[in-house]
Amino acid sequence: MARPLVGHMDPAFVSMMEEIKGMLRRVFQTKNDMTFPVSGTGSAGMEFCFVNLIEPGDEVIIGVNGVFGMRMCDVAERCGARVTRVESTWGQIITPRQIAEALKTVPRPKLVAVVHAETSTGALTPVEDIARLAHDAGALFLLDTVTSLGGCPVDIDGWQVDAVYSGTQKCLSAPPGLAPVSLSPRAMQVATGRKTKVQSWYLDVNLLSSYWGSERVYHHTAPISMNYGLHEALRLVLEEGLENRWRRHEKNHLLLKGGLAEMNLEIVSQAGHQLWQLNAVGVPAGVDEAAVRKQLLTDSNIEIGAGLGPMKGKIWRIGLMGETSREKNVETVLIALRKALKK
Ligand SMILES: *Cc1c(COP(=O)(O)O)cnc(C)c1O
Repeated sequence: MARPLVGHMDPAFVSMMEEIKGMLRRVFQTKNDMTFPVSGTGSAGMEFCFVNLIEPGDEVIIGVNGVFGMRMCDVAERCGARVTRVESTWGQIITPRQIAEALKTVPRPKLVAVVHAETSTGALTPVEDIARLAHDAGALFLLDTVTSLGGCPVDIDGWQVDAVYSGTQKCLSAPPGLAPVSLSPRAMQVATGRKTKVQSWYLDVNLLSSYWGSERVYHHTAPISMNYGLHEALRLVLEEGLENRWRRHEKNHLLLKGGLAEMNLEIVSQAGHQLWQLNAVGVPAGVDEAAVRKQLLTDSNIEIGAGLGPMKGKIWRIGLMGETSREKNVETVLIALRKALKK
């Protein structure tokens, strides 16, 4: 990222854009032409998907089992969508049965949206059957892969996802600042065939496609250095290999889980659906959870997350994402946690 800057139309940058698109297709496992990084963090990717696909009055079904499902509802409502929430207890997954029930009550669903890896709770929702149900009802399927991409299997074409967004700073291990997205040909048909203009000029795929596509027409200045960073991060992901990377995340999650069990601590998200990259650890009774986090940070330079919403005060969230998913880090956090709990 410290490389000298070039212009956003420089042939050297243009060929880098092509390489980024190509590598993103491999990481998302898609052939979608419209695959590129939106300027902005993961939430900009979320807005990109909703503003391009939703017109006022559209009916949308959203799975809500944590903070990011709630955020999707807020974004969709700002686009004028009529939102039906499908709610699960935080820490649990969204099931195909729940989505099927909701589809019975919504006459003309435009879109079904789910968070793959809920970072606020540590639950991984399987989405293949949900995607099929959405399509059978004539709806598009939208998936949040901000925390899953690069940390566990994500198969956009295999699962038939129509719109997907991610972020750079979770399991891709780049700094925050870009939101990789991909739209299927079906989603592109919806975005290009709208009756109303996309509410956001900045995120309008009809305009962005002329810069990121073959025409190279100026829309906004691409954040050059961020794209350098993403290019290198994707190169490292593919050098390691997707399968190897997933196995590494799985192995270190199991290592952490084993070490926690020795301290009588457990991961509280739904058994069988626990994320490898975000571990939601139950805070034992009588322990001041904030004091433990503070001590880890000041004594050991380790930052772990607090619980959010209904899980505030009840869990710690230990991230093992991308480069940080290392055996050494697991050992270090276990030792530090043991020390803090003793104190
Ligand atoms: C982090 C995150 C987001 C939002 O990404 P920002 O980069 O913070 O804008 C959205 N969804 C999920 C699941 C996330 O973990």
